[in-house]
Amino acid sequence: MVLAQLGGSISRALAQMSNATVIDEKVLNDCLNEISRALLQADVQFKMVRDMQTNIKRIVNLEALAAGTNKRRIMQQAVFTELCNMLDPGKPNFTPKKGKPSVVMFVGLQGSGKTTTCTKYAYYHQRKGFKPALVCADTFRAGAFDQLKQNATKAKIPFYGSYMESDPVKIAVEGVERFRQENCDLIIVDTSGRHKQEAALFEEMRQVSEATKPDLVIFVMDSSIGQAAFDQAQAFKQSVSVGAVIITKMDGHAKGGGALSAINAVEPGVTVFRTISFVVPLVCVCVTSVAATKSPVIFIGTGEHIDEFEVFDVKPFVSRLLG
Ligand code: GDP
Repeated sequence: MVLAQLGGSISRALAQMSNATVIDEKVLNDCLNEISRALLQADVQFKMVRDMQTNIKRIVNLEALAAGTNKRRIMQQAVFTELCNMLDPGKPNFTPKKGKPSVVMFVGLQGSGKTTTCTKYAYYHQRKGFKPALVCADTFRAGAFDQLKQNATKAKIPFYGSYMESDPVKIAVEGVERFRQENCDLIIVDTSGRHKQEAALFEEMRQVSEATKPDLVIFVMDSSIGQAAFDQAQAFKQSVSVGAVIITKMDGHAKGGGALSAINAVEPGVTVFRTISFVVPLVCVCVTSVAATKSPVIFIGTGEHIDEFEVFDVKPFVSRLLG
């Protein structure tokens, strides 16, 4: 099932509920079953889906609601509160502090957008007043060095890498050391990606992580991965201690003006059903990766350019969905 279909399933379930003249137990159950089916097909863990159902039923509690209560509204709010909980793993996320050196290591499959995202992350923090630096410890992919160097140079971000050295651990350690001495406060290490989840990739990641002791490991995932998302995210989490996730290529789901502009166009009070089919794919990928890594999604990539990068903040995002 592709993500767009998933989005369709959830939005249809909510729209059907919205169209019902009376909101009773049956309408509520039908709606919850539809949403659960969609989430399960997105590889969201069964336990999370079951907990979501239980919590929504407890919040909505149709029998206890006073006459005249807007059940539809309560139902919509309960659904999104629970989606919000699913998107928030409920543990503090490491955030770099200005003036205090932090090492952030990026991991992900080849083609996920990892190298591009390293520069976006560095550039985002540079604009916030950080002194970032980029280290290319990807010695596997021909062209990774040049790509990161070019991006770094364009954004005026210091860069460390080597054409000659083939040991990624050595490069990572030297780069981190160099930038610590230069008082950089955000040292970003790009690691190798492979096409598949190969053992060699995970071993290399583990070694780079052990040698550089990152404060944060960011797992980069392509949003178009679909059903494979859970296994992929979990495989990375089992090898290195992933602390945050960035989902890339969200612009690929855009229809009729783009996923994010569609969300932004929703004014408070305006129904979300018009735009939800663009938004729910994002919710589903995020729910899946959060469930697999127990880590928050911190940014999303929305294009190839350096500034096509958005902070992902669960509560404002979900409240915008609510309208
Ligand atoms: P890596 O192999 O994981 O390091 O991937 P790259 O950073 O080289 O990215 C692979 C391709 O995806 C490149 O063509 C990037 O320009 C593109 N890319 C990365 N992030 C995004 C994004 O958010 N949106 C779009 N449309 N393309 C992206």
